[in-house]
Amino acid sequence: MNIIFMGPPGAGKGTQSDFIIEKYHIPHIATGDMFRAALKNETALGLEAKKYMDAGKLVPDEVTINIVKERLQEDDTKDGFLFDGFPRTIAQAKALDEMLSGMNRNIDLVINIDVPFDTLLKRLSGRRICKSCGASYHVEFNPSKVEGVCDKCGGELYTRSDDNEESARVRLETYTNETKPLIAYYQEKGLYHEVNGLQSVEDVFNDIAKIIEGK
Ligand code: ADP
Ligand code: AMP
Repeated sequence: MNIIFMGPPGAGKGTQSDFIIEKYHIPHIATGDMFRAALKNETALGLEAKKYMDAGKLVPDEVTINIVKERLQEDDTKDGFLFDGFPRTIAQAKALDEMLSGMNRNIDLVINIDVPFDTLLKRLSGRRICKSCGASYHVEFNPSKVEGVCDKCGGELYTRSDDNEESARVRLETYTNETKPLIAYYQEKGLYHEVNGLQSVEDVFNDIAKIIEGK
C-alpha cells in the first residue's frame, strides 16, 4: 500500500506514522526527518535545507524531489511506503506522479489529518521530539512518563528549533498557500480521505486504520 499523509504542521502525522509503521510494516518517508538527518551530519544538503527550515519556508522543489527520487530507488519501498510531509506543493505532486508511473507504481491513498490553526500553534509550541528515535511528545497533550525522557527508547527529548511561534506561524501560512491546494488535486483523482485530528491519538489512528482497511 502506497500512502500519503497530508496535514498542516502539528496535525499529528509523525505521531500517527509510528502506529502505521508498527501495524502495516511499511517504510516511513518523512522529508523533514531526512533534512534534519542531513543537517545533523552537516552535509551540503543539510546546510542548504537549514536556511529554509529555520525560516519556516519550504526547501526548493528541485532539491526535495531529488531526495525522494533517490529514496524510492531503495528496495524497501517496493512493497509500499508512507509519505509524511511530501508532497507539499503541486509541482512536487506532479513530479511524484511521474516518478511512480515510470516505476509502474501509484499512490493508493491520501489521508489528510484535519486540525484547526489555533490548536496547531499550541501543539507546535509544546512539542518535544526524541533525539534518538524521533518519537513525538507534547508537554501537555501527550507527555512522556518521565519529563525529558523518551518512553520508547530512553532518549533525550528536545524542542525543534523551528517550533517557535514566529516560525510556526510562517509554516502554517506556507501550508495554506502552497500545500492546501493539494487537497483538490487528490480529490480530483479520487484518492483523498480526511480524518478529524482533534480526537485522541488512539481515535485518530482507529479512523486511519478503517480507511486503510477499507481500501
Ligand atoms: P506533525 O508530524 O504533523 O507535524 P506531530 O505528530 O509531531 O505533528 O504532532 C504535533 C504535536 O501534537 C506533538 O507534540 C504531538 O505529541 C501532539 N499530538 C499529536 N497528535 C495529537 C492528538 N491527537 N491530540 C493531542 N496532541 C497530539
Ligand atoms: P516537517 O518535519 O515535515 O515539519 O518539515 C520541517 C521543514 O522541512 C519544513 O518546514 C520545510 O522547511 C522542510 N520540508 C520538509 N518536507 C518538505 C517538502 N516536501 N518540501 C519542501 N520543504 C520541506
